[in-house]
Amino acid sequence: MRHELARLGKEAERVEFTHRWLSPDGEQLVIHLNAMQRRDHTGRAVAAVGSAQDVTEREAILETMRLWSQVIETTAEGMLLVNRDLRPLQVNAAFSQITGLALEGLRRDGWRFFDDVFRRQIQPALERVGRWQGERTSHGADGQLNYHWFNVGVLLDDTGRPGHYVVMVSDVSALRRSQSRLDYLARHDSLTGLPNRAAMMEYLHEQIIAIDPREGAMALLYLDLDRFKNVNDSLGQHWGDRVLLAVSDRLRGHLPPTAVLGRPESDEFMVMMTDLRSPADAVALAEALLEALRPALKVEHYEFAIGASVGIAFHPQHAGSVEELVKNANIAMHRAKARGRNRLQVFSEQMSTEIVDRLALEAQIRAALARGEFQLHYQPKVELATGRVVGAEALVRWPHPSQGSIAPGRFVPVAEESGLIAELGRWVMSEAAAQAARWHAEGLRMGHIAVNVAGPQVWRGDFLDHIQGLLRRYDLEPSLLQVEITETLLMSDATQEDTVRRLEALRDLGLKLAIDDFGTGYSSLSRLKRLPVATLKIDQSFVNGVCGDANDAAIVRAIIAMARTLGLATVAEGVETEEQLSWLRHEGCDMGQGYLFGKALPAAAFVALVNAGTVGTAGPRG
Ligand code: C2E
Ligand code: MG
Ligand code: MG
Repeated sequence: MRHELARLGKEAERVEFTHRWLSPDGEQLVIHLNAMQRRDHTGRAVAAVGSAQDVTEREAILETMRLWSQVIETTAEGMLLVNRDLRPLQVNAAFSQITGLALEGLRRDGWRFFDDVFRRQIQPALERVGRWQGERTSHGADGQLNYHWFNVGVLLDDTGRPGHYVVMVSDVSALRRSQSRLDYLARHDSLTGLPNRAAMMEYLHEQIIAIDPREGAMALLYLDLDRFKNVNDSLGQHWGDRVLLAVSDRLRGHLPPTAVLGRPESDEFMVMMTDLRSPADAVALAEALLEALRPALKVEHYEFAIGASVGIAFHPQHAGSVEELVKNANIAMHRAKARGRNRLQVFSEQMSTEIVDRLALEAQIRAALARGEFQLHYQPKVELATGRVVGAEALVRWPHPSQGSIAPGRFVPVAEESGLIAELGRWVMSEAAAQAARWHAEGLRMGHIAVNVAGPQVWRGDFLDHIQGLLRRYDLEPSLLQVEITETLLMSDATQEDTVRRLEALRDLGLKLAIDDFGTGYSSLSRLKRLPVATLKIDQSFVNGVCGDANDAAIVRAIIAMARTLGLATVAEGVETEEQLSWLRHEGCDMGQGYLFGKALPAAAFVALVNAGTVGTAGPRG
């Protein structure tokens, strides 16, 4: 300070400077000094006058502002200040870098973003709530899509009205790009690149909203591969994946441009068809897709025969919501499968009530199994020549506590479809073995017990072990148990070879095998010869007609003759009249079963019937 003042009158007539000064109580003060040399008329210095001003506060403000503008200049966020007429006043470096626009250019050319959108949308929002945020995309000079996040605020003037706007912008392109990659991965199946379930559900939602139900319609095709599980189980997932890829290529190749194909899970596909002119379009597409999958798929040196079952549901006809649409297409698909695969099925309301009933029944079966409600009844099997009871067929009975007796024809198919048949069948087999053992222990000669076995039961890994275990546990003569398998199952079974092997193992255990409902399937003689079968049970629909219908009589005669050539025993099912009995005897049928001899009875009643000597009116003749 001295130094500055010393200049007064020598180097300068007037000095002005700022002096930082530490006050006695330790406060940093900034003092502004102003001094002037006074001279008399001769020019001789007579005095110095001046003033000192405490500018500590003002200096602090200026310093902060300097720092602040540095912050604004160096921040990564772009900033632009405009007045209420949208005239750009200031931009920072980041702004120019992000948008590629400098202040001069902005003033000269204006900014696309503002002129239109700003006045129409943003400004009104700003005046209402004082803030606007949003994303805008634009193409950069390199043609790449850039994503900018905007944050616009209002600066109020002294009167409290919007005076200026501050536009802040950040470049979120990199973030968005990695996000959209993640998004893509989350919405697409990594194997086929097709939209996954979540994405398909979203598309469906969008369409359902977009469609005016009075005018437009859409269809959902739900497609499930028929024999895919075999591929995966026998060759492993690697080949399973290759096959799925081949399938998705086939399907893709047969889609109209407006259809969207997706893969909701493993071996299931969905096709969304919008702007449908008529339901027939969807049916035609389903047919085309089934047709496309008909020729075997070649993957390297393997050939795969993969069929599919397709269910179709329509919006708005069948469903008001996406969930319902998917559910109903699914129901229809299951129906197509149940009807024998490789076909399409359009949903109907009736199916949906059937499904509800079925699910209820399924739950009841489960509960009945847990409570041990099932029983076995025994229907006598009679040697026709002698009238002697040679055994019995075990038939499951369900005396339902509140609904009365429920017929096996109703609950067995439901148990089969739901997989509960495995548990039910296991119980039947165990109970039959236990009953055979009890009779044996009581010294009763009741002959064999034939047990009906369903397909899914045979395919289970523990089927043979279970039977073997029972034989051992009860020390049971294996010939006291027989197994009945329906002809349809044996002939339509996709995993034929495996089934045949299991049945052979069954025969090797000493159990005899009978083909049930014979005549309703399509057995060929050559195939029958290869199966380890001992008995053919002639279906009751033919037996019924032997005395009145020449056709039926011819069929039964042919079956008996064929069985004889193959060395198989014959059992006529559903024998109800003396007339039928004598016809069958005359034709050389070995055994019979039917109401004429007796209905299925509880074990004790069955024993009483057998002990009475003859059954029904069919005593031994001659
Ligand atoms: P199925 O094995 O062909 O059994 C013969 C069916 O014909 C039985 O019906 C029997 O009661 C009935 N029947 C016997 N004689 C006559 C007759 O003279 N006239 C008429 N009209 N019917 C007669 P049910 O007990 O209702 O069983 C129906 C089907 O349910 C069985 O046909 C069998 O396929 C299945 N089933 C029954 N029990 C079991 C079981 O424990 N396991 C499995 N998997 N299926 C079973
Ligand atoms: Mg049977
Ligand atoms: Mg039968």
